[in-house]
Amino acid sequence: MDELRRVAEEVAGCMDCQLHLSRKKAVPGEGPADADIMLIGEGPGFHENEQGRPFVGAAGKFLEELLESINLSREDVFIGNVVKCRPPGNRDPQPEEIEACSSYLQRQIDAIDPKVIVTLGRFSMARYFPNVKISKIHGQAKEIDGRVVIPMYHPAAALHQPSLRQVVKEDFSLIPAVIDQRRSASLPHESDPTDPEQLSLF
Ligand code: URA
Ligand code: SF4
Repeated sequence: MDELRRVAEEVAGCMDCQLHLSRKKAVPGEGPADADIMLIGEGPGFHENEQGRPFVGAAGKFLEELLESINLSREDVFIGNVVKCRPPGNRDPQPEEIEACSSYLQRQIDAIDPKVIVTLGRFSMARYFPNVKISKIHGQAKEIDGRVVIPMYHPAAALHQPSLRQVVKEDFSLIPAVIDQRRSASLPHESDPTDPEQLSLF
């Protein structure tokens, strides 16, 4: 917990990229320090910048719906972003901004040590899956650095493009089985996480 608090404090005063110039409130992310699931979005939008909290606007409402559909609430998961300060006018975060902010995200991932990371949108996807198209790999779980990473469309993309809503819902519906599998994989003696049979789901 201390490390997450430290990151949040540092982020609040951070001037490591130009996004600090226009931010109102930095948005470090929030959720349990021992969350099994970490969701990583793109960056704060208008409402997040006002409130200092992630996913509190329209995309956040849809995200809550998605979580509800798998019997979770936002309090159950850690919700973070690739950049912690709002890109002005909601423009895309620039590569140098993502790079400047990257160590905060990495420290959060290291501290929480989630079983599953869900990347929301192409900027957080690129952290784990560079140079691929989200349309090709969304919903496909992959084991990376000892945990499962599942790339998904950003909820805001689904709001702009209604045909994606069902796609995102279906991708979200995969999460419980992945978590169950990771939970049993981490029980001593009951199973061998390196057994290829057990990874067949991925
Ligand atoms: N979109 C994001 O990517 N992150 C937020 O926190 C809110 C909207
Ligand atoms: Fe610092 Fe990240 Fe904010 Fe840039 S976006 S000022 S690196 S906290």
